[in-house]
This record gives sequence, C-alpha cells and structure tokens, in this order.
Amino acid sequence: MTDFARTRALFELPEGIVYLDGNSLGPLPRAARERVAREVSREWGEKLIRGWNEAGWMDLPETVGDKIARLIGAAKGTVVAGDSTSINLHKALTAAVSLAGPRKVVLSDSGNFPTDLYVAQMALRALGGGHELKVVAPEEVAGTIDDTVAVLMLTQVDYKTGRLHDMQALTAKARENGVVSIWDLAHSAGALPVDLAGADADFAVGCGYKYLNGGPGAPAFIYVRPGLGDRIDPVLAGWMGHEAPFAFDLDYRPAGGIQRMRVGTPPILSMASLDAALDAWDGVSMDDVRDRSIELSERFIAEIEARCPELTLASPRDPSARGSQVSVAFREGYAAMQAAIANGLIGDFRAPDIMRFGFTPLYIGMDDVVRAAETIERVMRDKLWDRADYRARAKVT
Ligand SMILES: *Cc1c(COP(=O)(O)O)cnc(C)c1O
Repeated sequence: MTDFARTRALFELPEGIVYLDGNSLGPLPRAARERVAREVSREWGEKLIRGWNEAGWMDLPETVGDKIARLIGAAKGTVVAGDSTSINLHKALTAAVSLAGPRKVVLSDSGNFPTDLYVAQMALRALGGGHELKVVAPEEVAGTIDDTVAVLMLTQVDYKTGRLHDMQALTAKARENGVVSIWDLAHSAGALPVDLAGADADFAVGCGYKYLNGGPGAPAFIYVRPGLGDRIDPVLAGWMGHEAPFAFDLDYRPAGGIQRMRVGTPPILSMASLDAALDAWDGVSMDDVRDRSIELSERFIAEIEARCPELTLASPRDPSARGSQVSVAFREGYAAMQAAIANGLIGDFRAPDIMRFGFTPLYIGMDDVVRAAETIERVMRDKLWDRADYRARAKVT
C-alpha cells in the first residue's frame, strides 16, 4: 500500500489552507525547492557551462521523460520532457497528419481544452493539405471514428467536468479503422493509471505543472509509440533533435526515436524542478492513487450534496467515468470561489459557472475534504459570495 502520510510530508503546504487546485498547479515539493537552489548555486554558479556535461543537463529531457513514462504506462525511451503541452501537441499533430496518408479529417470533441483546438485549427491551415478539424460532442466520438478519419485527437479527462474518455476502447477503434491517435494527458498523468502501451496509442502529450507538481510553467512531455519515432519528419525541427547537434551540419538529420521530438535548449531550472518533483512518485502505486482519489471525491460529493442544495454536480456521478476532479455548477461560481479562497479553501473557476476541485492523494486527505465542504457550506449559507469585490474577475480564474 502506498503510504500517503509519507508523500504528504514531501510537500510544502501553507498552514490553514486546503488546496484543491493541484490539478491546475501542483504545490511545491520540498525536494524541488532544494534542487533548484542547488542547481542555481552549485551547478550554474560554479560549474558554469561545464554543467551541460557534468551536471547531466543535456540528458535531462530524457531522464525526466523516463520518470514520467512509468506513470503513464510507457516504456523507457518513449517519452521526452520539454516545451509546453500546446507545442508538443503541435509536434504530435503535424507528425500524425503526415503519417495518416491521404485522409483529411482530424477528429476531436467539444470537451477538449481550447488550446488543443487552437493548435489544430492553425496547424492544419499552415500544413496547407486541405485538412479539416471535425469537432463533435464527447459522446459522439466513438460513433464518428471510421475509415475517413486521419487522426483522432482527444483529451482523456475533460478539464471542466472531469468526464473521462475510455482510452482503451477509443484507441482500439481508431486502430481498427487505420486512424492515428493522439491523447492529451494533461489531467491524467499523475491523476489516474494510464496504460499508453496497453492501449497502443500512437502519440500522447501532457503537462508537468498539474498533477506532476513541476512548478509554474514546468516543461510538458510528449510520448511516441515505440517504432514510430523513426518514421517521423518533425515539422518543428531544431538542433536539439538533430542526430549530432554539435557537428553543426547545415542540413537537418533527425536523431533516432523520441529524441527527434526535442527542439531547442531545455529550460534547465524548470526541468530540474520537475525532475525532483517526480521523485515524490517513488514507491507510489497509481492504482492506490486512483482508489484514494475516488474515496476523496465520493466523500466530497456526498458532503456537498448534503450541505449545499444551491450547487449542482457538473461531473459524472459514476466515479469510473470521472478523472480526479469534481466540478459543481453555481450561477455566482466565480464570486463563490473567491469567497472560498478568502476563507482558506483554494479551488478554481471555469466559465461560465463551474467551480472546480481537484483531488490529489499525494498530499490531500479526508480531513481536508471535510474542511473544504464546511467552507463551501459557509460560503453558501451566509451568502459570502454576495460581494462586489469577489465578482471582479482577475486575469487568471
Ligand atoms: C492545462 C492544459 C493544457 C495547457 O497547455 P500549455 O501549453 O501548458 O499551456 C493543454 N491541454 C489541456 C487538455 C490542458 O488541460
């Protein structure tokens, strides 16, 4: 059994705050604080440029990639960390389209995160191959996969509602129809067991700063199915993905496998933070995380429904159809979340009316869930949300 008391002690959690927003930005792992401080003073400060060879900087994208691989059911050497999720999606989509042959349809759904759709809209236009982005309702995806579809591009867990796609079944259907699959694991990696190899997915991307706790703007990751990497001509090519970056050849020759998905110089301080943060997963079983996450979220839903009739559950009620978050709808959701935050409960808000709470067993326990429900009850019962200053929208919600 995973010892969640041990993992909780690995994080800096401010006194008096219940943090149910680790699905948006994970908290600070103590090891990341120490690692970044050391990386700055000892490696950068003293080793200077020698750090690229002596401190393992050059290989960090692959070392970090291998640590993430374990959490998403991927083999070593199939994941590389770097860039942002949006950029990695661009790499995956352009590669997928070129592998897909003459078909023109890229299929996604209306539950996808907007950046994924933006990337697709403009990348397909830039490719100039007459590709079309087809966006259907999440429940219509399975029925729309057929042999006219080139690429299936989905986010497994809906960022707003927490609705969970059946990756295994959809990827299998894609494979049967000769469709290249891309999964965005932004709200899956570190949230629930993922089996990319078992599902036989072609590409996946995901975030380093959400459930993986790498810090604000931490590098993202990209996965390419074993054997597929060598068949990709990267559209976003750069010297770090070259076969021999320090040969300084004038012509691009892609490195083997996953390494060709690298582009430019990795952000070492951020990468080091993510590297240290990932050590929190040592000895952690994703099955235990999933079981605990369901216990926490089921209790949260029960408490909220008993205490707050004003709120409507906006997530699937069946925990097996949900990721690791619970969303509730409330007309004054933004102001209510501001009031909750002012009272020591941090969650977040997604327009137009969703209050979102993430459950992260590494550092959230049942006491936190009960305290969170008590705070939300107070916000509702005493109408603490009914204040003009809570309604004034900040830039980041
Ligand atoms: C959070 C999130 C992103 C974020 O992309 P960035 O490029 O890191 O800003 C992308 N896709 C999904 C599904 C997300 O939830």
